[in-house]
Amino acid sequence: MFVDSHAHIDGPEYDADREEVIKRARDAGVAAILNVGTGDPHSGALERAVELAEKNRDIYTAIGIHPHDARHFDDQAEDRIKGLIKTSSRVLAWGEIGLDYHYDNSPREVQREVFRRQLRLAREAGLPVIVHTREAEDDTIEILREEWAQPGSQGIMHCFSGSLKLAQATLGLGFLISFAGVLTFKKAEGLRAVAAEVGLDRLLIETDCPFLTPIPFRGRRNEPAHVIEVARCLAGIYQTTLPEIGRVTTGNFAGLFKLEGVFG
Ligand SMILES: [Zn+2]
Ligand SMILES: [Zn+2]
Repeated sequence: MFVDSHAHIDGPEYDADREEVIKRARDAGVAAILNVGTGDPHSGALERAVELAEKNRDIYTAIGIHPHDARHFDDQAEDRIKGLIKTSSRVLAWGEIGLDYHYDNSPREVQREVFRRQLRLAREAGLPVIVHTREAEDDTIEILREEWAQPGSQGIMHCFSGSLKLAQATLGLGFLISFAGVLTFKKAEGLRAVAAEVGLDRLLIETDCPFLTPIPFRGRRNEPAHVIEVARCLAGIYQTTLPEIGRVTTGNFAGLFKLEGVFG
């Protein structure tokens, strides 16, 4: 049994065959998918993500303003997110939120401000956060230490591709660390060395699909069934079996979101 703890299957990339994609995941042993709603909050993208989770018993959702869209964050966006959290029990987390200095789609100053604001809102809502960070490690650590270092604060560092320093800092803040297909890439020896230090009790697996297709499917659109390739890679790193990685990561996911009764 596996959980894809971060996917984007509500978007147009899957409009033609979404049902088959979901079925392939189920057939492959993926017990749950956390679909993350992103995009301009005024476009209906967040509502679309919640709707997909409402329609499928094994799909959950997280909603928040991605750093790319930080410039679209305003009071109305905040109200929409709060409203969706209130009306749907399928929203498990606030995210993805964070900093992305690689693309700089929103000004960095705005990204930092919106990241802080959403961390405070997530705390008020009592939800874990899903953090996206790229080429912004120092600012990410600083903001998380200032805004999130409190008892009971939990979250996921998603699609982890950072340094050992970032891993240790966020583990110290109580985060779980989620690896995506990047881990399987030939040149990712450094990342695999970081993954080896995380510890089985803090690991999650994800696809971040449609992006980052793992080996041996690289070059094609990614999908939740491929999360098993990330698990296979971790089994090699931890010198254990594929079912054991599935069991442990599913248990970590269920523990974080208090879904032990549902699966895991
Ligand atoms: Zn992300
Ligand atoms: Zn994502």
